[in-house]
Amino acid sequence: MEIKYLDLQANYQSIKSEIDEAIHKVLDSSAYVLGPAVNEFESAFAEYCGTKFAIGVNSGTSALTLALKALGVGPGDEVITAANTFIATAAAIEHAGGRPVLVDVDPETRNMDPVLLKMAITSRTRAIIPVHLYGRPADMDPIMQLATRHDIVVLEDAAQAHGARYKGKKAGAIGRIAAFSFYPGKNLGAYGEAGAVTTDDPELDRRVRMLRDHGSDKKYVHDLLGYNARMEGIQGAVLKIKLAHLDRWNAERNRVARLYNQLLADLPIKLPNFEDDIDQVFHLYVIETEQRDQLQKYLGEHGVPSLIHYPIPIHRQKAFDHLDHRAGDFPITEKLADEILSLPIYPEMSDEQVTFVAEKVKAFFG
Ligand SMILES: *Cc1c(COP(=O)(O)O)cnc(C)c1O
Repeated sequence: MEIKYLDLQANYQSIKSEIDEAIHKVLDSSAYVLGPAVNEFESAFAEYCGTKFAIGVNSGTSALTLALKALGVGPGDEVITAANTFIATAAAIEHAGGRPVLVDVDPETRNMDPVLLKMAITSRTRAIIPVHLYGRPADMDPIMQLATRHDIVVLEDAAQAHGARYKGKKAGAIGRIAAFSFYPGKNLGAYGEAGAVTTDDPELDRRVRMLRDHGSDKKYVHDLLGYNARMEGIQGAVLKIKLAHLDRWNAERNRVARLYNQLLADLPIKLPNFEDDIDQVFHLYVIETEQRDQLQKYLGEHGVPSLIHYPIPIHRQKAFDHLDHRAGDFPITEKLADEILSLPIYPEMSDEQVTFVAEKVKAFFG
């Protein structure tokens, strides 16, 4: 049996005629950058998230950076985020001119620990970026309460959580503003680079729209120092088609995750847990074991690809040497980096394929 970590080709084949037609429509219109396809996707995505506005940009990293700039984050501002996240979250804070302040994660949710967040807030804290890592919403109630009490804004990093819900509210509709990535492998993936910002705030919407287009809302008039971070027409067309399938695909990811949990239940590994009130979308299916490296090697030798998200935490990266952290500063994140393993998961994965992977994991543990 062939197991892929992720099968983007199977996904394309399942919607090929719709996609090909939508792409050709863009080619025939020559609206390669922004244009009607991007406008239509923005409206559909805002409606899907339950926000007033969605702004299409050219990557999730741009979405984070532009959201921070629109919020007015700059030199001297501290922005708190989770130590266990993809590098882009922290990089965006630096690109906007702020200083990333990392807090460790809760071992159960693997997301920002609200107790540690509280301890990290200072008079210079300007924003908090909770990350809904692996498609599981962060513990937003205590985070929002702290933010309100201290008059700090919350920017959700929803790059891995399209369609996830926290107590009925969609990821991207809980904080003041949110950033999404549509990198091809994400739950909602473009056919190239793309991202979006969502918000209910008309002034933030206006600023992000200007920032993505050289700081302009009138051609050749530039009121802000902006960027070229516009979404391409073809990406808007692809994303609008794929958005209509997203809930079904997320349900399939949940099927895969539940089956894994059932098949792996008796092994000495930690599995993702399910919680009432929290609808996860399983961007990744991440297990934990002290024998991670040996397990990964064994799986690789037996036809099962796997990945680590992420092997080197941000505070151990050379690019963030200047934050002056050392080993042991974020023990949960460091333990996760040593013990986590992401098993194959994607909507088109069959029960037979999931069972095959689970059998190999079981065989490793004897
Ligand atoms: C993918 C991702 C990003 C960055 O998105 P790009 O589209 O790759 O720039 C940011 N944060 C998290 C948590 C991500 O997973």
